[in-house]
Amino acid sequence: MYPQVLFKNRKPDRITTIEEYQQNGGYEALAQVLKNKSVKQVKQVINDAVLLGRGGAAFPSGVKLETVAENAPFPRYLVCNADEMEPGTFKDRVLIHADPHQLIEGMILAGYAVLAEKGIIFIRPEYENAARILEREIDIAKQAGFLGSNIMGSGYSFNLDVHRSGGRYICGEVTAQLNALMGKRPNPKQPPPYPTEKGLWDQPTVIQNVETLCCIPHIMKNGADWFKNLALTKGAAGTKIFGISGKVNKPGCYELPLGVRLSEIIEKHAGGMTAGSEFKACLPGGASTRFLTKEFYNIEMDFQTLKNAGHRLGTAAIMVFDHKTCMVGATLNLMEFFARESCGWCTPCREGTQYIKDLLWRIENGQGEESFIPLLKKICKYLWNAYCAFAPGAVSPVESLLTYFEDEVMEHIEQKKCPFKT
Ligand code: SF4
Repeated sequence: MYPQVLFKNRKPDRITTIEEYQQNGGYEALAQVLKNKSVKQVKQVINDAVLLGRGGAAFPSGVKLETVAENAPFPRYLVCNADEMEPGTFKDRVLIHADPHQLIEGMILAGYAVLAEKGIIFIRPEYENAARILEREIDIAKQAGFLGSNIMGSGYSFNLDVHRSGGRYICGEVTAQLNALMGKRPNPKQPPPYPTEKGLWDQPTVIQNVETLCCIPHIMKNGADWFKNLALTKGAAGTKIFGISGKVNKPGCYELPLGVRLSEIIEKHAGGMTAGSEFKACLPGGASTRFLTKEFYNIEMDFQTLKNAGHRLGTAAIMVFDHKTCMVGATLNLMEFFARESCGWCTPCREGTQYIKDLLWRIENGQGEESFIPLLKKICKYLWNAYCAFAPGAVSPVESLLTYFEDEVMEHIEQKKCPFKT
């Protein structure tokens, strides 16, 4: 059994109350920090801990906090990105349901690190239960003196609000999310200026993912070295919530050290492949990552190892496919999502995602031609020139389909039908 950090208070059937959270050391980090640590020291500890953003981009959290200059104008904002819309990813919802005060404390600490006056939790509209839990627990934290004016007599004041997203995938992208919060069309914006310089209403704004923020109280309480030592591989730091779905016996969310092997996640924690199923491939980190095939079955699951192998850990939402899964059909399913969710701002993505979806549909339905393969590869390349990271993410499964499963695509074309359908 590995140490449980983010899930240490998790219960099978209900949320952790503020009393239970405090009995297990909750809000101690906040008390210590507000009493003994300057904002500079807090940022230093988070930096030393090498906390990488858990929302998919893996950007160093400490670096993000440090980019809010000391002399930056006030007010400053902290936004928690809880707009979890990546297909297959559900870890943030589970975290909020399990232990909402962990997130609230993480937000107050991150807010203090940049002297933000207000925090906003931007949440997916389908997560209405989670939003209500957070609103209720924010009130409770306020009554307990952890939020509001002059927190614990420190002179620092911070308030939290919950904001429901309009429900489009692109609202999870940082700059689009800021536009959405300001009531504008939520299309992405290329920096500079970066949100940490000019974000919400042109004020310095830090955006962090739910899981990233939940790590912060533990780092502040136990130190950077402790956090780094939680990981199994050199250079990685901390635990990770792996959400696993698909052809396994025990789908769900598991907190495991970064660097744990994929084979161990599937066989030990997720209960192995379902009866009669053989591992064929998985998406390691949500719909916008590349398929990992059998040759990667023993890979160490951390950000750097996957990057070195030409892959991405993303949100660590593992979708497992077995030998009976049609990879063309699975990829088509993902492309239907991406084509629908393209924000439509730029032509390569707006037109390209539709075009790829149509070609895959024709291949899957027996209307494919050999020329579609080079055509698909070409369009995928064009999508790397789209305005934001949505398009390269959308083509990741398609490109890896053509890399690892070109034979299967050809079978569809030659047989003029899906070979997996009887
Ligand atoms: S790449 Fe797609 S999501 Fe991003 S701006 Fe262009 S159309 Fe919108």
